[in-house]
Amino acid sequence: MRRDVIIIGAGPAGLCLAQALCRQSWKVALLERQAEAAIAEPAFDGREIALTHASIRLLRELGVWEHIPRDDIAPLRAARVMDGESPHWMTVESDLVGKTQLGSLVPNHRIREAAWRGVQDAPTLDWHPGVRIASVRTTAEHAEVELQDGRRLQASLLIAADSRFSETRRALGIGASQYDFGKSMLVCRLRHEVPHHGVAWEWFGHGQTLAMLPLREHLSSAVLTVPHAEARRLQDLPADDFAAQMRERYADRLGAMELDSSRHVYPLVGVYARRFVGRRFALAGDAAVGMHPVTAHGFNLGLASVERLADMARIARTQGRDLGSDALLARYQRRHRAGSLPLYLATSTVVRVFTDDRAPMRKLRETILRAGQQVMPFRRLLAAQLVDEAPLDAPLPVRLRQGLAQLLPRRA
Ligand SMILES: Cc1cc2nc3c(=O)[nH]c(=O)nc-3n(C[C@H](O)[C@H](O)[C@H](O)COP(=O)(O)OP(=O)(O)OC[C@H]3O[C@@H](n4cnc5c(N)ncnc54)[C@H](O)[C@@H]3O)c2cc1C
Repeated sequence: MRRDVIIIGAGPAGLCLAQALCRQSWKVALLERQAEAAIAEPAFDGREIALTHASIRLLRELGVWEHIPRDDIAPLRAARVMDGESPHWMTVESDLVGKTQLGSLVPNHRIREAAWRGVQDAPTLDWHPGVRIASVRTTAEHAEVELQDGRRLQASLLIAADSRFSETRRALGIGASQYDFGKSMLVCRLRHEVPHHGVAWEWFGHGQTLAMLPLREHLSSAVLTVPHAEARRLQDLPADDFAAQMRERYADRLGAMELDSSRHVYPLVGVYARRFVGRRFALAGDAAVGMHPVTAHGFNLGLASVERLADMARIARTQGRDLGSDALLARYQRRHRAGSLPLYLATSTVVRVFTDDRAPMRKLRETILRAGQQVMPFRRLLAAQLVDEAPLDAPLPVRLRQGLAQLLPRRA
């Protein structure tokens, strides 16, 4: 059977994309290396994903949001950036832009589970879990995937959503710039004595970076960035010793701590693909842009790629055009690069500036945070970016008008 689209990778981006395309009645084959059980009932992986308002809107439109248990959604009211022992910090609050929250925190495994449930009723989905891909190729007429069991699938367009280390991207000759931050992130849930009041912390300490993401009143997700060996050592400590060390690392600001989940370690590597498209081929999710998690934009950008590809498919449908045409793919690439490159570069710069412990850099950080806290429009701009719900492909004047409206001071 000839499909319209083959998607490789049923992570959160691949599943949401499959759902978006099936809703437009495209015939989609979704190929996944893992067995169905790992996709249908994903295990807790320590990641708590901070979703922006635009991402939540899209998840609602895709019918994914309704499958996330309400108890697993935590409001994010404010975010505070701190540096070492400096008394100057910057806080971005949702009420700066007249909202009750900047975004929501949702466990990654709940997003994956909800995205899986979302595609269950898709009549045009052709699902292939537990497959091994032998080869991929594209010609002027079609894209073709051969599986190790000998089956061949053809479609007008092939999309790789197979992680930041995408094998499909490499097989089709698209390079990527990769930056190894030389550190790992250890993530887990901690109970703590002192309430967090819905405020997330990003604390750039010396030799380590600590984040605390508020889940329930005395429960947070701890995110600790340290050299890889140190992350592994902490992961293997007995639970009580680990909690005591975390209390010390967080300078007792949240009082006594207790480990409330398994611990997970992620090596930090940023990836930006040199191109997002090829002949009858496109990259989505982390396969296009694999962000450092510090600015919490990875999956939000993954959803942006879903929305932009869905928009491209809508044009193909309404104008009767070839879904894999060069012109449509070029349009997707243009939009997704314009929407992701500034964030990718800004995130890498933030990491470099805020993790450099030399004296001049510490001074620079203190100046940035002090100025940021005092310059209200700057903080409002940061908040406005998170709460902006506008479709990503709204015309620029519409987005500018909405952005400016958010920046104007609110009337009481
Ligand atoms: C600690 C941490 C915290 C994070 N916090 C945030 C946050 O707050 N906000 C945010 O927006 N993002 C965050 N992210 C990023 C977010 O988790 C990722 O952007 C997102 O999971 C990427 O989804 P994906 O579907 O593109 O890729 P993946 O989740 O990597 O899924 C890829 C899928 O492809 C499959 N696959 C791979 N190779 C093949 C193959 N050859 N054949 C078939 N299938 C294949 C895999 O099995 C997998 O199912 C965080 C990441 C980390 C590590």
